[in-house]
Amino acid sequence: MQVLLGATLIDGTGASPVPDAAVVIEGERVVAAGPRAALSWRPDAERVDLSGFTILPGLIDTHDHLASHGYALTKRWGLDEPASTTHLRTARVLEQTLAMGYTTVRDAGGLDVGFKIAIEEGMIAGPRLSLGLKIISPTGGIGDSISPSGHSCWIPADPNLPDSVANGVHEVRTVVRTMVRAGADAIKCATTGGASSRPGHGPTDAAFTRDEMRVLVDEAHALGRKVMCHALGGPGLRLAVEAGVDSIEHGCYLADEPDLIAMMAERGTVLTPTLLVYVYHRESRAPHVRERARALYARHLETVQTALAAGVKVVAGTDAGGHDHPANARELECLVDAGMTPLQAIRAGTGLAAECLGLEKTVGTVEGDRLADLVAVDGDPLRDITLLQRADHIMVVWKGGKICVDRRGGQIPAAEDQPARHNR
Ligand SMILES: [Zn+2]
Repeated sequence: MQVLLGATLIDGTGASPVPDAAVVIEGERVVAAGPRAALSWRPDAERVDLSGFTILPGLIDTHDHLASHGYALTKRWGLDEPASTTHLRTARVLEQTLAMGYTTVRDAGGLDVGFKIAIEEGMIAGPRLSLGLKIISPTGGIGDSISPSGHSCWIPADPNLPDSVANGVHEVRTVVRTMVRAGADAIKCATTGGASSRPGHGPTDAAFTRDEMRVLVDEAHALGRKVMCHALGGPGLRLAVEAGVDSIEHGCYLADEPDLIAMMAERGTVLTPTLLVYVYHRESRAPHVRERARALYARHLETVQTALAAGVKVVAGTDAGGHDHPANARELECLVDAGMTPLQAIRAGTGLAAECLGLEKTVGTVEGDRLADLVAVDGDPLRDITLLQRADHIMVVWKGGKICVDRRGGQIPAAEDQPARHNR
């Protein structure tokens, strides 16, 4: 048994911070957490003094692309280096992401089940993973690998990342089952284009029919998987919400559809705005991407504010991959810029994020019977949310009660140098 003493506790439930807290850990789980004076523990418990630090639940990114290292076609199609080099690059991102306090990450496409197995077996360090494997869309949608000139990707399909293009209800049901067979924890699909999708399939261009989406949601739920749906605006966004997906990813133009926001609040459909990726796309070298990202900016901010006011659960997902790894906590700063309080932003990246993944009984909050996934931060992130982006402030990270990163000695490994910050 160990007891973490003296820190301020932000427990991830949205409750006010608790000064001079105690967190009692037995094995891999938290037994109790709260004001030191209100708790007791066995006399032989190991006492760890964390005065001056803030303890948070391990951070959660609900939308990442851990195996993506750039938007150029040569990167997307894996043409510029051997697959083994790319895999090792991905392993390094996993390790760095954990070292920044991210103990759980949902991958929204591109990471195969082998990385999850390697982490669970202790071969490499990394967060707990929830995998979407690949983005399901019809022909011409964002799951369809087409170059801007119209050429198909000729790289042979990886059986661990099955082909995700499906047309018609029969193929859609089959592809959902195929994803689950290959290890998907969540079903990722897309009913619109996006900022970075091919010219001709933009943020308000629709994909899938009503029947196809109903079958997708029905089959995913029958297999116990949540559906995370990329949908930015227009009829495809309406289709996704009405079909009953569990989360809308991006949702930039939701502010144009007040009835959909009301429906999401009523049904508990989560919004993952992924503000960070649009900061990146606004400076894209591709003119059509830059133009789309700039065009949606104001509506996107209004969407977040309207959704929050309506009681929609808004969670933190970065859409990182090729940008912002491992400083995923920049999304929390974006959420604060969009109108959340720092406490709300932390909840969006911990307790609510765990709910979004269906893991709220396991991770996301610091309370009895949750896994002891914790971060000790030097300073007060409620005063300065950007502390969570800085390796020199993420002092200790626990995963399942075990310390996996400890910078209290002042050592910041060189591999954790932060990437250059792009213009905001
Ligand atoms: Zn994404």
